[in-house]
Amino acid sequence: MALINENFLKLKAGYLFPEIARRVKAFTDENPAAAQRLIRCGIGDVTEALPEAVRGAMHKAVDEMGDRGTFKGYGPEQGYEFLRKAIAEHDFQARGMTIQADEVFISDGSKCDTGNILDIFGRGNKIAITDPVYPVYVDTNVMNGNTGEADESGAYAGLTYLKCTPANGFVPEIPVERLDLVYLCYPNNPTGAVATREQLEAWVAYALKNDTIILYDAAYEAFIRDPKLPRSIFEIDGARDCAMEFRSFSKNGGFTGMRCAFVVIPKTLMGRTTAGARQPVHPLWSRRHSTKFNGASYIVQKGAEALYSDEGRSQVKALVEHYMGNAALLVKACRDAGLAVYGGENAPYVWVQCPAGISSWQMFDKMLNEANVVITPGSGFGSAGEGYFRISAFNSRANVEEVCKRIKALAK
Ligand SMILES: *Cc1c(COP(=O)(O)O)cnc(C)c1O
Repeated sequence: MALINENFLKLKAGYLFPEIARRVKAFTDENPAAAQRLIRCGIGDVTEALPEAVRGAMHKAVDEMGDRGTFKGYGPEQGYEFLRKAIAEHDFQARGMTIQADEVFISDGSKCDTGNILDIFGRGNKIAITDPVYPVYVDTNVMNGNTGEADESGAYAGLTYLKCTPANGFVPEIPVERLDLVYLCYPNNPTGAVATREQLEAWVAYALKNDTIILYDAAYEAFIRDPKLPRSIFEIDGARDCAMEFRSFSKNGGFTGMRCAFVVIPKTLMGRTTAGARQPVHPLWSRRHSTKFNGASYIVQKGAEALYSDEGRSQVKALVEHYMGNAALLVKACRDAGLAVYGGENAPYVWVQCPAGISSWQMFDKMLNEANVVITPGSGFGSAGEGYFRISAFNSRANVEEVCKRIKALAK
């Protein structure tokens, strides 16, 4: 019989979203009437239609595929030049960063990128994640054999957990020990927190001093509205030598079902061999990407490119304003209900403290049973998330207004 990768057996069985789905199903099976009233604010998935600029560009691309003269087969693994150039120019160069098109790798999603990136790193690295955290970073490290077993609280041996609390604004303090890899995600899922320029400068200084690589997930960059906040780690001097950045069109362009994202790996970013030789990581990812990936679809890349047109940019802005309008309503409703609320100002997630003595899952059940609203229990994102819940602002305005009413009613 074939040996399996036993690291998979270390994974905690009750992965967050299946457990939510199980409880929602049990509730709706028992309460078919209440099921009609159910509003889902659980999973962070967009709800609004694809921007018109994207649809137009894709229709055109489909027609190109229908003509022998303009038909396209396999594209470049790293992504089409037109999209890599648009990204480098609009997202980075126009904002004073020196990222070049050939430092951008197009993919079919940041979930895959943040997981697959471990292919190019060796064993024995000291790896840190925040707590609470986007579960993908943790589980992919478990699968790769970078951890031991999980303890009672769900924390894996061998991983360093950086606690995020109201006291540090949900941005971890600079650690005293040295680390090889640190995952940071700002604007943050699940807490909705943002990192200030000073905080990112401190992290970059730490990384440069300790030869640490920062894996920076900026999937929610488009939701930053405060112009003083950095939208990219590369706005910080020195970040080219210590960071890579993951970006996605999922949340800004509504591409969760379309699948298109990218990672920026500066050519100056270095790792080391066991023998101690410095080695750039860009060629390693290039090789990995070309070997295991055959490129995102031409049609989808044409759609993504259209997000950078004048029309596309104003349509993205309208989408962001819609979701952030929702977030503002949710923040206000929770505050009016007497709850302590974080996030929701530069991120589409509202992070709410449960009333005293109520756990995350108890709050989940209460919201489900009494308000017929599905939220995400904070403890599902790590033990530091216990006592909190996340409300997603990805919804229709009508649903959000109804959720706000129910939160207020629940507080009475
Ligand atoms: C949604 C999300 C992404 C984007 O994932 P895709 O695979 O590109 O859809 C990346 N990171 C975080 C933290 C997210 O919440």
